This record gives sequence, structure tokens and C-alpha cells, in this order.
Amino acid sequence: MEEFKWEDRIPSARELRGGFENADDILSRIMGSDSSIGSDLLHDTLLAKSVNSKRIKRSGATRIVSVTNQKGGVGKTTTTVNVATSFAAEGIPVLVIDLDPQANTSSSLGVRQRGKGIYEVMTGQAGMQEVVRESPIFPSLEVVPSSIDLSAIELEMAGEPQREAVLKKYLFSYLERSGKKYEYVFIDCAPSLGLLVLNALTASREVLIPVQVEYYALEGLNQLLRTINLVRLNFNPDLKNVMMILNMVDRRTILSRKICEAVREAYPSLVLSSSIPRLVRVAEAAAAGESLTSFDPSSPAAVAYRQACIEIAERL
Ligand code: ATP
Ligand code: MG
Repeated sequence: MEEFKWEDRIPSARELRGGFENADDILSRIMGSDSSIGSDLLHDTLLAKSVNSKRIKRSGATRIVSVTNQKGGVGKTTTTVNVATSFAAEGIPVLVIDLDPQANTSSSLGVRQRGKGIYEVMTGQAGMQEVVRESPIFPSLEVVPSSIDLSAIELEMAGEPQREAVLKKYLFSYLERSGKKYEYVFIDCAPSLGLLVLNALTASREVLIPVQVEYYALEGLNQLLRTINLVRLNFNPDLKNVMMILNMVDRRTILSRKICEAVREAYPSLVLSSSIPRLVRVAEAAAAGESLTSFDPSSPAAVAYRQACIEIAERL
């Protein structure tokens, strides 16, 4: 019997030469457009290629952005951490102020409060320059950490004059005196519409609202926009640019698609075209106390955050 040889069945490198497919062709051929996993994978690969080849436009001035939504668990901290680190990964100088007593942003950026933080700044016990810490993740990223002490501040400040402008006073004076040329300052807010959020909005020129794509997505957004408008009219005429980012989008369900459409229809000029998929990798990065940008930069969610940054940078 003739001896079986694998080499006879496998085309030689010479035969294949000139006819190699690239990765995209192979994906399209194997997965095809009628396979949902295949088309998702193809979509992600092509998107990553296009997004990673683009540069993020640099900002001439310091843009101060509050990341806020009075609803809990919609992705404020996740958005702050991943948008800030996507900018910083590009070498863009960013300051993140953690204005939530839960302090999840501080720990995700590798900065646990030891000693003084935003509470001491806002109560006049420390200057902001004393508490700003470099994040170990990216050299161009700095953080003003928070701690549970901050939860008492709303009561402590209740009787003070101009209590809505305390953060603005200390932040603006720090930006002026330190000579730091941050291109972005992101302020992560707690899930409320209380005095801390009012301070964030009074200190900001822009707002980024993460909207969780779920059945009640639209609920509360009008109230939030009314509050932002009241702050603009009464305390901060510079608060003009409002952006919304759809988070936890599930491309495969019709409900998710319909909710995205409904939010875009309700606020056509505010919603960014980039949206963030619901992916376990996002939660895994948070559980590991890291940003996606450092934990898994090739994840489709990390690509989506970079795409959002490209859009935010163009949007002013
Ligand atoms: P809080 O109102 O308590 O401050 P939040 O609005 O800051 O909450 P996050 O803490 O960012 O919300 O997110 C809530 C939870 O949802 C976290 O466990 C986070 O890991 C998870 N999460 C956020 N975005 C995504 C996503 N795109 N895919 C999967 N999980 C996500
Ligand atoms: Mg949070």
C-alpha cells in the first residue's frame, strides 16, 4: 500500500505564494455575513482597524467635563475612567477629579487616597496641588482622589455662601497657578442631583451623560437636562456643550437597538454616534481595579471608547 504523506495534501508555500488572503478576507470567508458571531467579529475587526488608525484631535484650551447622571449604575465611573485613559494613552494631559465618595474612579486609576483628597480641598484644609496624584497607569494622567469622607460634605457646606461654586474656585485657581496644561478635566459625579453635582456642573463647561441602554433609559433624562439648564441660567453661563453616550448596548437584541433609536430620536444633537457595547470585559477590568485601556486595549469596548474620544475631541 502506498504510504500516506501529509505533505502531499498540504499546498506548499510556493503554491500559496501570491495568493495569500489578508486577515479581513479570511474572516469574511470563514464567518460570512449571515453568521451573527461572524459579522460581529468582522465588524469589530474592521472598526478597530479604522479607529486605531485615526489620531485624536488636540484641544487648545482646557476642557472641563462633568460626567453625570442621577441614575445609579449607568456607567459614569466606567465612562470617566475609560475616556480619560483613552485620551491619556495618546499622551494627552488629563486630570480626573473623583467627586464620588464611593471612590471607584480613584481606585480604577490606581490611586487610593492616602492622606488628603477632594474632601480636604473643598473644605479648605488642603490646596489642590497638594492632593493631585500621578496615575501609575499613564504619565499624562493625574487624579484628585476621593474617599468616604466626602459623603458628609453636603451637610457641612449647606449653610455656606456660594456653596455651589466651591469646586470651581479651587479648581480654577489650581489651573491658573500650577501652569498645568491639561487638555481635559473630567469630573466623575455621584448618582444624585445634590450639592456635589451642582458644584461639578458649576465648575464645568461641558457635560457627558452616560445613558444605560435599558427599558427605562429615557426616564430622568429630561429632569437632568432641566437641572443642567437651571445651572447654566443661574450659576454658569459657560455650561453649553451637553453630550450623551449610549452605554451597555447589546447589538444582538432588537430591544437594545430600539432603545438606542428612541434616545437618538429624543436628543438627536446630543447623542454621540459612538456607543459602548455591553461586554463582560468592561466589568472584568473594573473588578481588577483597572481601566480597559490598560487591561485589554484590543477589546471592542476599548476601541469604542477610543472612537468616542475621537468624536468628543471633534465636538466643540
Ligand atoms: P454609580 O451611580 O454607583 O456611581 P456608575 O454610574 O458610575 O455607578 P459604573 O460603576 O461605571 O456606574 O457601572 C456600573 C456597573 O456596570 C459596574 O459593575 C460596571 O463594571 C458595569 N458596566 C458599566 N459599563 C459596562 C459595559 N459597557 N459593559 C459591561 N458592564 C458595564
Ligand atoms: Mg460611579
